Amino acid sequence: MKDHVALSEEFNIDEPRVNWHDETLWFIRQKRDKAVHGVPEWEWLRETASQVKNNVLSNLSAYLEQFEANALANGIFVHWAADAKEHNEIIHSILRKHYVERMVKSKSMLTEECHLNDYLTENGIEVIDSDLGERIVQLGKERPSHIVLPCIHKKKEEIGDLFHKYLGTAEGESDPQILTEAARQHLRETFLTRKVALTGVNFAVAETGEFVVCTNEGNADMGAHLADVHIASMGIEKIIPERKHLGVFLRLLTRSATGQPITTYSSHFKSPRAGQEMHIVLVDNGRSRQLGREDFRNSLKCIRCGSCMNTCPVYRRSGGHSYHSVISGPIGSILAPNLDMKEFADLPFASTLCGSCSNVCPVKIDIHDQLYKWRQVLVKEGYVSNTKAVSMKTMTWVLSFPALFAFAGRTGRWTMKNLPFLVNNKLNPWYKAREMPVPPKESFREWYTKNRAQK
Ligand code: SF4
Repeated sequence: MKDHVALSEEFNIDEPRVNWHDETLWFIRQKRDKAVHGVPEWEWLRETASQVKNNVLSNLSAYLEQFEANALANGIFVHWAADAKEHNEIIHSILRKHYVERMVKSKSMLTEECHLNDYLTENGIEVIDSDLGERIVQLGKERPSHIVLPCIHKKKEEIGDLFHKYLGTAEGESDPQILTEAARQHLRETFLTRKVALTGVNFAVAETGEFVVCTNEGNADMGAHLADVHIASMGIEKIIPERKHLGVFLRLLTRSATGQPITTYSSHFKSPRAGQEMHIVLVDNGRSRQLGREDFRNSLKCIRCGSCMNTCPVYRRSGGHSYHSVISGPIGSILAPNLDMKEFADLPFASTLCGSCSNVCPVKIDIHDQLYKWRQVLVKEGYVSNTKAVSMKTMTWVLSFPALFAFAGRTGRWTMKNLPFLVNNKLNPWYKAREMPVPPKESFREWYTKNRAQK
């Protein structure tokens, strides 16, 4: 398995793509800033959302049970899944019960996390993703590279090639309007012929037993309203206590995600329509374990807006696939080691710890602090490479003795000046993509002592 560094190097081979990826995401970050500045009470909303989620995390089981009781009373079937395997088996059993071999699915990062498409395909079920970005990555046999913009890494010409191959558009056609129309026709036929539709869940309200699905394309509604069976997959952290709290979260979500004032469709599902069957699957899959990690439990406040990715200088220039986990970027680097410390030990190091992610997070997750804390856990648990472990031990030793630190600095400056090839060579990973700095004549400590002495 390649790590973040190796996968970033692959992404960085195509420099124009990196620049365009960087600029596009920064453009979205700027749109977010403009939208946020139009809401004077923004910081109050963030603080309120964070406090509501504190309450939820402290009383999670009580709210989930309240939700279950109300959802059952509304006529919804409620299922509990301890992990991805159970989640997939539950979905499969519902499909089997209805003798269904084809399903339409709107955007759901949870089903990506559970690898539902692979599981169902192996069991002879055809799944069509109805979110345009998700459909594009599905046709390309890829994972989403961003939680809100799944195919942000793809150029329109590449999408044109995929549509030519699978949807029969003209060869070389890359006009977004024509491609979108082709996807629309293709998906309309899917919506009309599928008996089962699966959606994600953005928020579930304990007080009423309803759940809310936010999309810009209306695809979740189209699938759910036309199907005989609606299944919703939900991570257990998506619960909120009361309906009035939606007013806080819905105002934060889309402004943070895309800079829009509101999501185009925020649909409430409370009970099945006459003749329809509605199921909701409440999935743990490691969330309870994360709740028990005091330093990392706040990561469960995440409302999946993607804002921390759009602002992250590392994400923007390394691409979502370099994180080799379903949720990429800063929040993904906190969530992934909870699932598998060994496999994702590299991710908390894929950050400059600049703190921009924490600044934009609408629910005030201390993202960069948690990344820093994960590094400490991973080093202590022995999950970092020997090179990193040895160099950290060496640095600890050097930094513990001021005279040794001063000597190391002098030696480093002298080497960079007189034997630059010892630093500027391909064995130095920093040199690969950077100009090494011109060494200063003296250290800050030397400068400070000299100048202070003159006074
Ligand atoms: S961590 Fe915060 S900024 Fe990142 S996706 Fe979640 S809610 Fe959005």
